Amino acid sequence: MSTSAPLDIVIAGGGTAGWMAAATFARFLGRHASITLVESDAIGTVGVGEATIPQIHNLIIGLGIDQAEFLRRTNASFKLGIEFVDWQRVGHSYIHSFGQVGRGVGLIPFRQLWLRGRGLGVADDYGSYSLNVAAAERDRFAIGEGRGGSLPDLAYAYHFDAALLAAMLRDYAEERGVRRVEGIIGHVERDGGTGDIAALMLDGERRISGNFFIDCTGFRSLLLGQTLEVPFIDWTRWLPCDTALAVPSETGARMRPYTQAMARDAGWQWRIPLQHRTGNGHVFCSAFTSVDKASALLLANLEGKALADPRPIRFTTGHRREYWSHNCVALGLAAGFMEPLESTSIHLVQSGIGRLLNVLSGDLGKLDAARSVFNRLSTIEWERIRDFLVLHYVANERVGEPFWDHCRSIELPATLVEKLALFREAGLFMREEDELFLDDSWAQVMIGQGVLPQTWSPLADNVAADEIGLFLETLARACRVKAEALPHHRQFIAGMLGEPAVQRA
Ligand code: FAD
Repeated sequence: MSTSAPLDIVIAGGGTAGWMAAATFARFLGRHASITLVESDAIGTVGVGEATIPQIHNLIIGLGIDQAEFLRRTNASFKLGIEFVDWQRVGHSYIHSFGQVGRGVGLIPFRQLWLRGRGLGVADDYGSYSLNVAAAERDRFAIGEGRGGSLPDLAYAYHFDAALLAAMLRDYAEERGVRRVEGIIGHVERDGGTGDIAALMLDGERRISGNFFIDCTGFRSLLLGQTLEVPFIDWTRWLPCDTALAVPSETGARMRPYTQAMARDAGWQWRIPLQHRTGNGHVFCSAFTSVDKASALLLANLEGKALADPRPIRFTTGHRREYWSHNCVALGLAAGFMEPLESTSIHLVQSGIGRLLNVLSGDLGKLDAARSVFNRLSTIEWERIRDFLVLHYVANERVGEPFWDHCRSIELPATLVEKLALFREAGLFMREEDELFLDDSWAQVMIGQGVLPQTWSPLADNVAADEIGLFLETLARACRVKAEALPHHRQFIAGMLGEPAVQRA
């Protein structure tokens, strides 16, 4: 990095996004930058955001945080995927698991062999060929258990307590020199010439100046939205839910190693098991139900006693037209929000930080190319995730239910129309431009939602018909046998924390 302009970074906001940015910058820019974070205890954080995807490992490993320490400090549990209950139709469920489903043969993707097997009448449910699914269904979990065998290791992420994560990252950042300033940002000062942000004014008197600003002020988007007036691109027409109710409850009898997303009349309910409690929420579209009804439905579907009253959170799905304007990058809710259906928001904070670190040079006078590539790639990433989320809603068979009927009538983004057309034809898929979700994810959700291809790719005809059944059965059996041999999720966590020894079932 050039040292022509010492970086003086000011992070506005100390929720998950603010402290993730502070910790990562302290770790990777510490010698080149002074970092200040301003937050207000009086305003507080959104306080949700507890399920993640496997990319979270990049953060934990990148920061050099010990896994057991992470588990202990954030009351985390492990996550193998998400169970979607009643989404396709009431009574039907499937798991969108992380990692690989089945095993391809040479250049032939596994789903093609499965489609051919299905055509021959010798294939089981698609999820039967995923070790993650087999382990999830049995509440089993272990790290590195596939090694050396025919199956890959379990791919996993975490569920954690968002407040504890922010506290942990705060300690990490402060130990590495990040200065925390408590106060309410009342005014944002701009340079009269360039229009860049020059300083944050706290409580009308304290002035926090810097030369690069990170907006992590949550839905307020105080810097990028309110001050720099970057317009908001509204995606409500594609993702109509606009309200969430969040409530913690006592832990249930089971500690599932996966998130549950249960479809409801006008949205869906999440259930996220942590060590000390369960996080629950009901995401819904206010045009189709009321807060009172949604709240009653949520409370009626908890597995343990509610530990608080349901807390409403209003949101609009979409994003700022640019994520980086002038000398300000927005991360987290200040950049935009897509509902938590696939637990992607914390990942988007992380990928935004990574992208920024890749293009940020020390010469703040020459940021045009960096800004442009950052905005272009961020938009692509957000739009591809949006399409994936929309798929869950539109491909439903819940006929006669007003919200779900509405979802099926949504005019789809052209990019999703194309994905659906390819998949419907013969289970075809092409990954575009580094998109987050890979073909195994798309295939699991397409099939789970009832989007079944008419045929298979000619590639699958390279395997003799009489070998397909045996191939599939061997794989499914290997998943079952391997999963049965794993420890229970709760026992595995206890073992990692040095509590009573892990017992094998
Ligand atoms: P916030 O937590 O709102 O933090 C904003 C910060 O800015 C606070 O510190 C506040 O004090 C400060 N601030 C604001 N204004 C001022 C001011 N004027 N002066 C000083 N300070 C100020 N993500 C996932 O990855 N997985 C999930 O399962 C998930 N579930 C979610 C469920 C719901 C219902 C919602 C709404 C979000 C969910 N998210 C999830 C998203 C996740 O919660 C956020 O991405 C994450 O918490 C980051 O939030 P944030 O830090 O951007 O905002």
